[in-house]
Amino acid sequence: MNGTQVFSKSATHELECPECGHKQNMRLWDSVDGAEDFLLKSQIFDKTLHLFQCGKCPFNAWVEKELLYYDVRSRFMIYYLPEFEEDTLELDVSGFFAQENNPGFYLRIVTELEELVEKIRIFEDGLDDRAVELLKKSFLNNWYEHYPDRNVVLRYTQMARDDRRIKIHVFEPERNDVIALEFDFAQGYEKAMSMLSKASLLKKDICFLKVNQENVLPG
Ligand SMILES: [Zn+2]
Repeated sequence: MNGTQVFSKSATHELECPECGHKQNMRLWDSVDGAEDFLLKSQIFDKTLHLFQCGKCPFNAWVEKELLYYDVRSRFMIYYLPEFEEDTLELDVSGFFAQENNPGFYLRIVTELEELVEKIRIFEDGLDDRAVELLKKSFLNNWYEHYPDRNVVLRYTQMARDDRRIKIHVFEPERNDVIALEFDFAQGYEKAMSMLSKASLLKKDICFLKVNQENVLPG
């Protein structure tokens, strides 16, 4: 078995509108092949793939359903598991999706749609998400020293290849504000990579991992 034998898979489900009780069919995806199915990928990015829109009333909402996103070209698989337990950091998967069948793949668990989109961007750009999380972590330590009461969420957005910088957006939900940060690739990212390599964390995935700034390095 190899990665090229997997396809995007979907099934039709009957869903009931929680507002008015109207029942209608909706196609929901179990897996998405991001290297082939660009339309599905764009529907993940614009949050329409699993958007339930009631045919009888104005209700609409994202359907919280697990989804496996994989990309054999950029070599990663991300399990979107909205119900996954907060404290659990890894998931051992048998069969096709097991690590032994996918050597060298990044295997990740995410619990939020924004996280799924962010990880796709990171891996498509050829970056290691752990180094990106380290960059975020260093920024956040600094931020909360100065602004302990102002919560922010950091999301990788893109890499500026010409000038070798990494762009990360800082969202401040309470102020509905976004700041764009830029990290120098050589000083920031490569330094983070060398920290990871000293901690022996590079390319050692043995199962699907949850990776964020809280757990990027042990201890
Ligand atoms: Zn309805």
